[in-house]
Amino acid sequence: RQPIIAIDGPAGAGKSTVARQVATQLGLVYLDTGAMYRAVTWLVLQQGIAIDDDCAIAELANKCKIELTPSQDIKFPVRVWINDTDVTQAIRSIEVTSQVSAIAAQAAVRQALVKQQQNWGKRGGLVAEGRDIGTHVFPDAEVKIFLTASVGERARRRQQDFKTQGQPEVSLEQLEKDIAERDWKDSTRKVSPLKKAVDAIELQTDGLSISEVTSKIVDYYQQ
Ligand code: C5P
Repeated sequence: RQPIIAIDGPAGAGKSTVARQVATQLGLVYLDTGAMYRAVTWLVLQQGIAIDDDCAIAELANKCKIELTPSQDIKFPVRVWINDTDVTQAIRSIEVTSQVSAIAAQAAVRQALVKQQQNWGKRGGLVAEGRDIGTHVFPDAEVKIFLTASVGERARRRQQDFKTQGQPEVSLEQLEKDIAERDWKDSTRKVSPLKKAVDAIELQTDGLSISEVTSKIVDYYQQ
């Protein structure tokens, strides 16, 4: 199979933008696994299923059809579909963001989505981004990166993303609180918690531009 680059890290560390640029520069396919957990969360909320109804959510995760397609729209460079509904913008809402970690903590949901990710990655040629890519989804990825940044820096970046995406403005204080809470939930859950793989390279990105981080990763890949 072709090589795989795994990029993991906490919320707002810049994974999406960086992973997409690395993929473009190296001619690989970009896979945003967070978008998949967000899409399932959107569907759960839309169908009025209770967040703790593990059974109903497991069934939904096993039956749903998720598609990720590249797009020319700079605001949303990947379009996300679940059961043929375009949820690209809807999955970035505050509501989905605040519930996604609870849904992503459910073992059956992870099992269903990881299976699909591994299927897509069978032939390699991917830059996959998430929380458990290097530890669990593609443990034999050729390059593993763990991207981090301080909570303050991540909140500032999120505020900028919201602006670009035309979402309502949220204060930095609120964003810092939300990010810290999601970090805590993602790293303390029982099933494949957010964790740096032992063989991952940690990149602290405070004060680094997207292109600086991108070229560091491209360099690691080419070494
Ligand atoms: O990366 P993003 O912020 O879009 O991810 C949304 C949420 O999806 C994360 O906070 C986490 O709870 C979950 N997630 C996960 N495993 C992944 C990717 C995302 O649990 N590989």
